[in-house]
Amino acid sequence: MNKKGILLVLSGPSGSGKDTVLNELAKDDGIQLSVSMTTRAKRDWEIDGTHYYFVTPEYFKRKIEADEVLEYTVYSGNYYGTPKAAIDEWLNEGKTVVLKIEVEGAANIRRIYPDAVSVFLLPPSMKVLEERLFRRESEDTEEIKRRLKIAESEILQAEYYDYVVVNDVLDYAVSDLRTIISAENKKTSRNKDLINKILKRI
Ligand code: 5GP
Repeated sequence: MNKKGILLVLSGPSGSGKDTVLNELAKDDGIQLSVSMTTRAKRDWEIDGTHYYFVTPEYFKRKIEADEVLEYTVYSGNYYGTPKAAIDEWLNEGKTVVLKIEVEGAANIRRIYPDAVSVFLLPPSMKVLEERLFRRESEDTEEIKRRLKIAESEILQAEYYDYVVVNDVLDYAVSDLRTIISAENKKTSRNKDLINKILKRI
């Protein structure tokens, strides 16, 4: 039987580089990214079904009513939610399941899965965050201002997470996440069967 996988919640303000970091992490064996549903417009470079499932508000609401959404939130006027479908299945297969969600969703996940591991990705400074948002040119100035305001209130929530990782140099941030996953996998609470197995009692 596989050891149960880790549910890893990654939050961080818009522009902190969650996608870039996860693109790298996803190349590792045993990492399963959960694809969220959203009602926001697709950015040019995004692929439906890979980065998000882009859906209508009506479809999103139907999924909530059918109890097929694990958690959801409204962020900057759009719905975002985690489909329930395969999360438990992946965890039972021993995979590290990664949810890229904002702070409210992360708090909900911690309630549903108390042993979830939460990581907050920080930008090196607010100035860098602002520069990144303007550089990626996917939002207009108003939306960027809105996201910077949200960013400040999100960063204030970082203290409720298990870990913080600063995304200044991409490779270091990815390596920090690998270290966290590796250490979490070795926690005694996740290895209760291991000692018995070694003693061949199971
Ligand atoms: P963006 O529009 O920049 O892709 O995402 C906006 C925010 O929504 C980000 O903080 C992102 O992590 C969050 N988000 C994406 N998917 C989900 C989800 O399924 N649930 C929740 N609660 N937040 C999400």
